Amino acid sequence: MTDFVSSFGNYPKVQHNNIYYLNWLDDDINFSDNISILPYGLGKSYGDSCLNSNNNLIVTRNLNRLIEFDNENGQLTVESGITLEECLEFLIPRGWFLPVTPGTKLITVGGALANDVHGKNHHKAGSFGNHVLGFELLRSDGTLLWCSEEINSDLFFASIGGIGLTGLITKIKFRNIRCNSTYIQSESIKFKSLEEFLDLSNESENFEYSVSWLDTNNLHSGIFSRGNFIRDDSYPSILHSRKKINIPFNLDFINPLTVKTFNTLYYSKQFEKKSKNIIHYDSFFYPLDKINNWNKFYGKKGFLQYQFVIPFESVNKYLSKILKSITSFTNSSFLTVIKTFGQIKSKGLMSFPMEGVTVAIDFKFTGFNLLKRLDYADKLVAEAGGRVYIAKDARMSQKAFMSFYPNHIHFSKFIDNKFSSDFWRRVSIL
Ligand SMILES: Cc1cc2nc3c(=O)[nH]c(=O)nc-3n(C[C@H](O)[C@H](O)[C@H](O)COP(=O)(O)OP(=O)(O)OC[C@H]3O[C@@H](n4cnc5c(N)ncnc54)[C@H](O)[C@@H]3O)c2cc1C
Repeated sequence: MTDFVSSFGNYPKVQHNNIYYLNWLDDDINFSDNISILPYGLGKSYGDSCLNSNNNLIVTRNLNRLIEFDNENGQLTVESGITLEECLEFLIPRGWFLPVTPGTKLITVGGALANDVHGKNHHKAGSFGNHVLGFELLRSDGTLLWCSEEINSDLFFASIGGIGLTGLITKIKFRNIRCNSTYIQSESIKFKSLEEFLDLSNESENFEYSVSWLDTNNLHSGIFSRGNFIRDDSYPSILHSRKKINIPFNLDFINPLTVKTFNTLYYSKQFEKKSKNIIHYDSFFYPLDKINNWNKFYGKKGFLQYQFVIPFESVNKYLSKILKSITSFTNSSFLTVIKTFGQIKSKGLMSFPMEGVTVAIDFKFTGFNLLKRLDYADKLVAEAGGRVYIAKDARMSQKAFMSFYPNHIHFSKFIDNKFSSDFWRRVSIL
C-alpha cells in the first residue's frame, strides 16, 4: 500500500495499491490484474473523483511535451500531463491565450478535459471541451483511438467530462485565442442584492470575462468583476512569474471570526460603487496561485467545496433558499464565488455547466452536520433542476448523482471496465 493521497480539499485521504508514473507515451501500463486504475493529473480536483483507494493511480504529469502548433490558427497539440501554466508559457510569447481557463493554471490539460472545466468566459466561450478538436485515448485492451466529433465520436463526447473513466487520454489538440497584450481592462462593481447581481450579469454581454465574489456575511451583496483583454499593443506582453509563497504545514486558520473579518475587509476594500483597473492576466485569472498549498489554511481535516448550478427559471425560488440551507454561523465559507453560465452547450455527456447561475462555496470539513446540510442542499438543487459539480465533490449520494446527471446510464456504456474511482464506486450501481 502507498502513503495516503488526497486531492486539493485534503478530504478524503486514502491509500492506493500502487501509483505508477508515466514518463513516455509508449510506457507499458499493466492492465492485467484485477485491480482498477485511474488517471491522475495534479490532483487539483477537490474531492474523490481523482482518487482510487486500494486500487491504482497512473500519474500523467511527466507526459508534459508540446507536440505540434499551428501559429496561423492557434491549434496546439500536447501530451495530456502538461499544465495550463506550461501551455501559457508557450502560447503567450506567440500572441495566443487559452480559450478557457479555470481559477488555477496549475492543472493538467488531461484534467481540464476530463472535468470539462469552465472559466470566467463561460457566457462567451462555453467550457474547455468546446475548444477541443480531438484527443488520443488509450483503452485497456491496448487500442489507441483518435477521438473527435467525426471519428469515434461516442467516446469523444463521453470522455469530455468523463472523469477519467473512459480510458487514458494521452494527447490533446485544442484551439486557442489571440491575445496581443497580457493585460485586462477590468471593472469592479459593488452590488447589494442577488437581483442586482443578475442585472449586472445581463448587462455584461460585451465583456469576455465575468465573475463575482459574494459576501459570506450576508450572501446577497458582493463585488461583480468583469473585463476584456486589451487588444491593441499599448500594453506589453509579460508572462506570469512562477514565484509562490509556500505554506509549509496545516494552519487551521479558518474560523467564524477570520471568515467574518476577511469578508468585511474584502467588501470594504473598494470605496466607490465602481472602479476601473488595468490588471495582468495572472492576477485577474489566478490570484490564488500565488500561494502554494493555500488549502492548508483549512487545517488537517481538510475542506469541501460545494459548487452547484441551477437554471435561470429556478433562481427566484431557489437561490437564496439553497444558500441559506448550506451556511451556518459556525461554519461559513471563507470564499464564495457566483457566476452565470451562458447558452453554449457543453459537449460532454457528463459535463457540469448548464445555462443558469453557479455558486462555489468552501466549508472547512467538520463532519456529520455539514454532510447532512449538504445532502439537504442537494435535494433543493435537484428540485431546482440543477446539479452539483463532480470535480468538487466528495460526498454526493447515489440518488443525488442520478438526478443531477441523467446521462449517466448512456455514459456508463463507454466506461473502460479496468478504470474506476472512489467517486464512481460511491455513486454508481455496481
Ligand atoms: C484553486 C482552484 C481553482 C479552480 N477553479 C476552477 C474553475 O474555475 N472551474 C473549474 O471548472 N474547475 C476549477 N477547479 C477544479 C480543477 O480545475 C479541476 O478539478 C481539474 O480537472 C483538475 O485538474 P488536474 O490536472 O489536477 O486533474 P486531477 O484532479 O488529477 O484529475 C481530474 C479528473 O481527470 C481525470 N484525468 C486526469 N488526467 C487524465 C488523463 N490523462 N486521461 C483521462 N483522465 C484524466 C482524473 O481521473 C480525474 O477524474 C479549480 C481547482 C482549484 C484547486
